[in-house]
Amino acid sequence: MRCLVTGGAGFLGSHLCERLLNDGHEVLCLDNYFTGRLQNIAHLRDNRNFELIRHDVTEPILLEVDRIFNLACPASPVHYQFNPVKTIKTSVMGAINMLGLAKRVHARILQASTSEVYGDPAVHPQKEDYWGNVNPIGIRSCYDEGKRVAETLFMDYHRQNKVDIRIVRIFNTYGPRMLMNDGRVVSNFIVQALKDEDLTIYGDGTQTRSFCYVDDLIEAFVRMMDQEEIIGPVNVGNPGEFTMLELAQAVLELTGSKSKIVYQPLPGDDPKMRRPDISLAKKTLGWEPKVNLFDGLQKTIEYFKTIV
Ligand code: NAD
Ligand code: UDP
Repeated sequence: MRCLVTGGAGFLGSHLCERLLNDGHEVLCLDNYFTGRLQNIAHLRDNRNFELIRHDVTEPILLEVDRIFNLACPASPVHYQFNPVKTIKTSVMGAINMLGLAKRVHARILQASTSEVYGDPAVHPQKEDYWGNVNPIGIRSCYDEGKRVAETLFMDYHRQNKVDIRIVRIFNTYGPRMLMNDGRVVSNFIVQALKDEDLTIYGDGTQTRSFCYVDDLIEAFVRMMDQEEIIGPVNVGNPGEFTMLELAQAVLELTGSKSKIVYQPLPGDDPKMRRPDISLAKKTLGWEPKVNLFDGLQKTIEYFKTIV
């Protein structure tokens, strides 16, 4: 298959490109390098099945492909709030452009959606049939609402134009190739610990997240794309749930760092808890995560040790 990966030079995108090449596919990696880096895919550039395209998904593009993985969008609150108007354009216009492409060439298209569609959830754990609790006018809205509109577009292109879609809702995923300045909690804590700087907990640290190791997530992407049974949305994430305080303590333990924990103000609309119900993924994809938080953190720490 010829696969297009938008956001292919980013954290998840680069791992996906690598996996698709290993599976024998041709890969077109498209990115505007906002948060992606050539370094992430440098090791793939000699592969004759790999091609790079510098392009912004807010503009249309004509390509001949069999499959599209639409990952282009900054994912860290720090980066998606840097230029919120651009973030929502990327989600919405990017979805329209990629769905238009999929429609024209009859490609199957997968959307990298997010647990953020559930907002600050009033239902716990979150199941796919929960409609969410999202503030439409807050500082996270450019990302949350952009991703929600993208899901709507995917469903409407499917109903109206029979586009062959797949939607996965990704819960916090971490691992090697996250940027040092990514701003998300796992990379922040690891970098701070390795530099013996204070670990910054926002709020009182009792908010929870469920952290999935990147290899597990990529496996779910591939299984979702390869099956015919469901179009989604389907939750993909690790149901292990931890407070930010527990995460900080785990990072301190695994790095042996002398860093202290400091508390900083909680950003607006920060969800209080998050845990995926993954029964649908288990049943239909035969998928569940294999890497627990401590093993995943260890691998990620080893990566950051090589660059900090
Ligand atoms: P990332 O920031 O590393 O990757 C995003 C990539 O998209 C980058 O390479 C960036 O340069 C590129 N990009 C951004 N705007 C673009 C544009 N207008 N045109 C072309 N390329 C553009 O983040 P990530 O963690 O790898 O996330 C990848 C996707 O998965 C995103 O869509 C994100 O919303 C989704 N997701 C990730 C997580 C997670 O925990 N990692 C959770 C939920 C959803
Ligand atoms: N967080 C934190 N310290 C940091 C970065 C983030 O305590 O240095 C908190 C953040 O407020 C949130 C949680 O960690 O409650 C996860 O944040 P992240 O940005 O990784 O992802 P998201 O909030 O989008 O799930």
